[in-house]
Amino acid sequence: MAKIKKAFFCQSCGFEAPKWYGKCPSCQSWNTMVEEIISSSNHIQSQQLEQITYQPFKPINIQDVGKVDFQRISALDSEFDNLLGGGIVPGSIMLLGGEPGIGKSTLLLQIALMLDKKILYVSGEESAEQIKLRALRIAQKNPNLYLYSETQTQEIFKQVKNLEPDLIIIDSIQTVYSDLVQSASGSIAQIRECAAEFQRLAKSTNIPIILIGHINKEGEIAGPKILEHIVDVVLQFEGDRNYTHRILRAIKNRFGAQHELAIYEMTEAGLHPVTNPSSLFLSDGQDIYSGTSVAASMEGARPFLIEIQALVSPTVYSVPQRTATGLDPRRLNMLLAVLDKRLGLQIANKDVFLNIAGGLKINDPALDLSVIASIVSSQFDHLIAPKFCFAAEVGLSGEIRAVHKIAQRIQEADKQGFEKIFVSRQNAIKELKTQQIQIIEVAKVSDMMKLLFK
Ligand SMILES: [Zn+2]
Repeated sequence: MAKIKKAFFCQSCGFEAPKWYGKCPSCQSWNTMVEEIISSSNHIQSQQLEQITYQPFKPINIQDVGKVDFQRISALDSEFDNLLGGGIVPGSIMLLGGEPGIGKSTLLLQIALMLDKKILYVSGEESAEQIKLRALRIAQKNPNLYLYSETQTQEIFKQVKNLEPDLIIIDSIQTVYSDLVQSASGSIAQIRECAAEFQRLAKSTNIPIILIGHINKEGEIAGPKILEHIVDVVLQFEGDRNYTHRILRAIKNRFGAQHELAIYEMTEAGLHPVTNPSSLFLSDGQDIYSGTSVAASMEGARPFLIEIQALVSPTVYSVPQRTATGLDPRRLNMLLAVLDKRLGLQIANKDVFLNIAGGLKINDPALDLSVIASIVSSQFDHLIAPKFCFAAEVGLSGEIRAVHKIAQRIQEADKQGFEKIFVSRQNAIKELKTQQIQIIEVAKVSDMMKLLFK
């Protein structure tokens, strides 16, 4: 009989320890260590894997690397393919994370129905009938899609051997369990073991595997960070369930660019790729209010325009409120300090609310100038012309600094019909083919304010 082994696991980072700690020695979180049963036997493990045809990787001469490109499988969805850097790499293991109900299963089911490949869709969440019902709403039909309701990895491996699919989808990693670990499914020990088993399966058979992972309330892929280390690609769904658009971001990608993103629109018939994202995040320009300006942002390799809204109002509290939605609050505080010190803006006793329209989360210093313009616009109740756009970072002394990929930002604003774009003088834009946009180079925040609010 197998001896029962126990260990403590940090629920936040997956750190394993033989004894309990109040504070995780690895990620320093408090009260995250939980005892779980593990009873792993390497002997059974290796037997299990031998049942599957084993194709070990061989060392490659450095001169041959890159000559043979991976025979990527195109998902037939240009947004998804671009996000991955050209398609799904055989033998790769991918994690698709997101909050429950955001559209993870819909997207993968859609891809499974679109592909002309043999696909095994394993669901521990829904029955085959429920999946069929959802599939009926999607226009595409793949006669080689196999649905399988199973949660035990050893059973899944047997079916993989019988069916020999071209792609495996596991919905979700939190519902599957391995016989080799005795703790409940969804526990750290189980997730870690199952992910490792799937990784070995992918590497040994060359079948790509996509794992769906639910995200917990802290916005992290539920369970361990350890999962992110095991897989080759981590894609994460962002966006608010209250909006129709969904943003899929590549957080990690061993085969392509990181921080690339794809934008989808949720409809009755599934998720549709959005090819002109700027149109999604800008209002139609019918009603103009003070405190609103447009920033030319860059996410991954893609430029798009977003609307930044600010509201400045006298506080009723002893400590004024500062809220930033979609933007780092520390960045907002820094910009407010710059406004206070360099422009003499009396803002210390005001509440400041900042919002990026459309539920986007953006970490791009080029938004600074637009944030500052919005705050000043709200403070003095002066409108900013709707066809003005901003792209520059602001430094602590109020200087306007250059940002990367300025040409793409300007071209996107030009394409969207903007009249003026404010950029840093340091960017030194020389020859740039634009249709109509006027490029205004500014050096200091105070100079820009004179130009904006004469
Ligand atoms: Zn930890």
